[in-house]
Amino acid sequence: MAAPANSRIVFDLQTAGEGTATGGGNNGSARIGRFANARGGVSFDTPSFVAQTSRGAVPHLSGDNLRDHTDVKVAYVALEDFIEKPHGNVPVCNHPSTLRDFISHPSNSLLMLAPRRSPPVTTAASNTDASLAILTSVGFRALKVDDYFNAVLKLRPDIAISPSDLPHQTPGKNRGPKMVFRTELWLGELINRNASNISIFAPVLPLDIERQSYYLGYLKEHISSLSGLALYDARLAVDLPSDLEGLPRLSLDQAQTPHQVLRQVSWGVDMLDLAFLTQMTDAGISLTFQFPGEASGKKEALGVDLWKKEYGTSIEPLAAVCKCYTCRKHHRAYVQHLLTAKEMTAWVLLQIHNAKIISNFFTAVRESIARCTFEEDCKIFAETYAEEFPEKTGHGPRYHFPSVGPRGALLI
Ligand SMILES: [Zn+2]
Repeated sequence: MAAPANSRIVFDLQTAGEGTATGGGNNGSARIGRFANARGGVSFDTPSFVAQTSRGAVPHLSGDNLRDHTDVKVAYVALEDFIEKPHGNVPVCNHPSTLRDFISHPSNSLLMLAPRRSPPVTTAASNTDASLAILTSVGFRALKVDDYFNAVLKLRPDIAISPSDLPHQTPGKNRGPKMVFRTELWLGELINRNASNISIFAPVLPLDIERQSYYLGYLKEHISSLSGLALYDARLAVDLPSDLEGLPRLSLDQAQTPHQVLRQVSWGVDMLDLAFLTQMTDAGISLTFQFPGEASGKKEALGVDLWKKEYGTSIEPLAAVCKCYTCRKHHRAYVQHLLTAKEMTAWVLLQIHNAKIISNFFTAVRESIARCTFEEDCKIFAETYAEEFPEKTGHGPRYHFPSVGPRGALLI
């Protein structure tokens, strides 16, 4: 069944740059916008963040917790998470319904589908003209690009990210043009086959703008078929052609800290895929930062490690100003007790809290851009908080899915 013709995402760029509420846009400056599903189900303001999922779930959160206790508006789902055996056995594709139904995702947030996780694990093999090298839960294999398109059309996510040809190493003289050729070819095929009018985000490759200028020209020609851009190098937001500035920009260039988030926002990025939300939760670290903060001469930590003994008797909330479910109902000592007991509720409570801290951070960032004080506020934030998150000292959750090392080795 085809989706209604008006189901595409609408992005309304509201303010462009410091002090210029023009409704247009300037590259290279922070901007605010409104992102809405044209069916009216979900709308939210940008800059904002995208939550990662593991096999279809935001880690530690059930659908009702995600819906009732977080402000997550977009979840990133990787098809490779669902491919377990050679062809013909992709459970999510054999299901008679959509991705949303398959993973029981709540209706108040959007689903974004991509072939690979973000950031993708380096694979042993390379991509070809017709396939992507992927890592499934049982090892490396190839995913035909055609199979990805079939999955998009069948699963009908709210947003589909078109495949991109990303090599493992910095591309040389010949590899760059091949990346551009394949990425454009695949995008063209997805556009042609998109009879269901699914919102498509076109990749912007991690190459100099000049090296992909023909491809960017192709994006301009097909702008009516696109709903956004997925940037693998966030700095390119500064140099994008002005014809593309009305499209929302998703950064898949992982910001590792809130400082890096601010840098990307200042380049004109609208949405950021953030891995550190779950990384901090897994480590038992409760985020405590606010934007812009109050510089006091001594740098404050971005979070606290709740494994530390000093919190064993603390009846303070996880962060003093936080009003999330966890902070309203529980205290640090209780969460530490759950952590040491390896009780999975510890990570549920931490994930709810950490997601709220990040939502509040983005709300304050938007207010700051609207007030035209963003640049100043970023300086205050830099003076207030440490550059890095606290060192991880504790143990992760015992039911954690095996993580993957930098070379693709499974670490169990
Ligand atoms: Zn909280």
